[in-house]
Amino acid sequence: MPPFPSLEKALKHYYGYDSFRPGQRQIVEEALQNRDLLIVMPTGGGKSLCFQLPALLKPGLTVVVSPLISLMQDQVEALRDNGIGATFLNSSLNQWQVRHREEAILNNKVKLLYVAPERLVSERFLPFIDLVKHQIGLNGFAIDEAHCVSEWGHDFRPEYRQLARLRQRYPDIPIMALTATATERVRQDIMTQLRLANPQVHVASFNRHNLYYEVLPKSKNTYTEILLRIRQEKGSGIIYCLSRKTVDELTFKLQKNEINALPYHAGLSDEERANNQTRFIRDDVQIMVATVAFGMGINKPDVRFVMHYDLPRNLEGYYQEAGRAGRDGESAKCTLFYSYGDVKKVEWSIEQRTDAKEQQIARHQLRKVLDYAEGTECRRTIQLSYFGEFFAGSCGNCDNCCSPKNTEDWSTEAMKFLSCVARCKERYGMNYIIEVLRGSKNQKVLQNKHDELSTYGIGKDRTAEQWKMLGRSLLHQGLLDQTTDGYAVLKLNPLSWEVMRRQRSVHLVVTAFKKKASEETNLKKAGVEILFDKLRKLRKKIADEQSVPPYVVFADSTLKLMAQMQPQTLSEFSQLSGVGTYKLNQYGERFITEIKAYRQEQDLGTSPSKTKKSNPDTRLTTWELFEQGLSVEEIASQRQLKLTTIQGHLADLIEQGKPIDLNPLVSPEHQALILKAVRETGVSEGIKPIYEYLNEKIDYGEIRLFLAWWRQQQQERSEQMLNSNKG
Ligand code: ADP
Ligand code: ZN
Repeated sequence: MPPFPSLEKALKHYYGYDSFRPGQRQIVEEALQNRDLLIVMPTGGGKSLCFQLPALLKPGLTVVVSPLISLMQDQVEALRDNGIGATFLNSSLNQWQVRHREEAILNNKVKLLYVAPERLVSERFLPFIDLVKHQIGLNGFAIDEAHCVSEWGHDFRPEYRQLARLRQRYPDIPIMALTATATERVRQDIMTQLRLANPQVHVASFNRHNLYYEVLPKSKNTYTEILLRIRQEKGSGIIYCLSRKTVDELTFKLQKNEINALPYHAGLSDEERANNQTRFIRDDVQIMVATVAFGMGINKPDVRFVMHYDLPRNLEGYYQEAGRAGRDGESAKCTLFYSYGDVKKVEWSIEQRTDAKEQQIARHQLRKVLDYAEGTECRRTIQLSYFGEFFAGSCGNCDNCCSPKNTEDWSTEAMKFLSCVARCKERYGMNYIIEVLRGSKNQKVLQNKHDELSTYGIGKDRTAEQWKMLGRSLLHQGLLDQTTDGYAVLKLNPLSWEVMRRQRSVHLVVTAFKKKASEETNLKKAGVEILFDKLRKLRKKIADEQSVPPYVVFADSTLKLMAQMQPQTLSEFSQLSGVGTYKLNQYGERFITEIKAYRQEQDLGTSPSKTKKSNPDTRLTTWELFEQGLSVEEIASQRQLKLTTIQGHLADLIEQGKPIDLNPLVSPEHQALILKAVRETGVSEGIKPIYEYLNEKIDYGEIRLFLAWWRQQQQERSEQMLNSNKG
């Protein structure tokens, strides 16, 4: 083992990375001090490195417990591709292969041994571990997916329970437990079950910055939407459906539209499933359409999007499934398609359960999913609060932050709706109430003499769809109840009466789904994109030669850097993040040759292009920085421009219709004051009159921003009205 002057040097040597991710460095240090550790990090947080790097730096062998054969193989392949001695022992090997590997271990050729828990603690295997300890030294146990030890986790495996024996038999060997499970209860359980000794606990934030979260209405057009998105995306994607049938149907449709897609669900044979999975991991197929059975065993870091075609059952499940996107830290998109019809289906299936407790839990979980799907705040805030983590919002990387939705006061409509429920004696469902409200001549309405009610026909000014939206929202906000006997009869509750007495107002979200401006601006710079494609092809070729997944050769991020920096010497190449010593020697030449060929083709000469692209529109530069999360002050100082100039840029961008959140720019209190001034002066064009009206207490820049936003809102509203009149 070469000695390293610092942990950073070791990191670069083995993995090619320049710096540690948050938490990693301290964990590695503590592991080197032989402490027991519990590591809780979200998927993609970089857990593997936490036990691998100490394993490489300590003498002796580290035993890694992993629940699935596929996970073991992935990790071992990735390690070997960094020139690190790693191996696994499991039931896929024959006796001779096992013997051969055991010999390698005893000859100190292996630093990391991956095994399944049942093998590790078996009476036949423990003597081998004793021998290892005696001959070459045992430097630690790493228990991956440690939540499997807990019945409270989402993936309990009884065989994990036996791992308690490790502490008994090897009291002085440190144990590191790792998991991505967020709940406190499971964490406690892990520590107790594995008998960790005064462990240092590291809980990373569950915020996955690189994931863009969005919820889209599910409608007749959803399939087309999915198709278009897949065609735009280059990378791999997973589409989750609830039933096998939907999986099969969707796969079939996509295949007919010439999308490279395969199904995955429990109805396929083991062989078919394994085969489909491998083809996905190897990038032979772009899309996996799957039930939630798919995912736990795969470790593909470059999944670029995950779509949920059906409503998930609970929010933790959703978080974990969506979280299979972008493990490599590169941007990725998580889309949930949401429809009220799906909610009804889930409700129905909850009603089929016989256990009252289970029903209650399922209802609670559904409510949380609805809070997420229907929420208007930052999606991250909602998700993270579910895990007990506070997040202030305005993440700039979710639909609600990028195109805030407007809420409208629908109190009067709500009163009409609820009074109609009351007049109909709380004996009907939603559709009937809407018929009465809209003055329908429906037989049933006439027979019931409901055309004589005072609420008959008072809702003609709204469409049935709008009333439905209101009705659902009332239900969801708890301002109205519905029987669960299958008839879904609407019932009033105390809150409904508050609304009817005008003691409570009702706000409704009016969605105007705007597309987030494409983030891929970087790669779209044509040249880089062409080269990136070529490098991808080369990577795939090399991966196939070695029968490993492409990401094992280089991560997407490294490939992107390559396309951007276009290194033409080994020393330039070695500086890329993700290029360690071993990979430099192994692949450097081939990639450099490809880059050179490309540059020749493009007549770009041999010196790397260092010219920075200058943005023709200074406003767009401001926007890019704003999108990256910089505040107005930071942008002004970085660009060496005046604060008001930056505010002016953003105001112009808002008027151009860019989805910019006003809240971080103008505080809600100031917004209220300016709005009042606009209303009272009737001015919405000039800044000065407002400035003076407000006694010069609010900056020009803020007023300018507000007015831009206000005019944009007015314009959108009138467009919407025009459209709805047309329709
Ligand atoms: P987890 O097991 O927590 O889901 P992994 O260990 O698979 O996450 O790491 C996720 C991705 O992040 C992998 O592609 C890994 O190579 C990469 N990664 C981990 N640590 C670093 C780092 N310090 N710098 C850059 N990339 C890293
Ligand atoms: Zn957000």
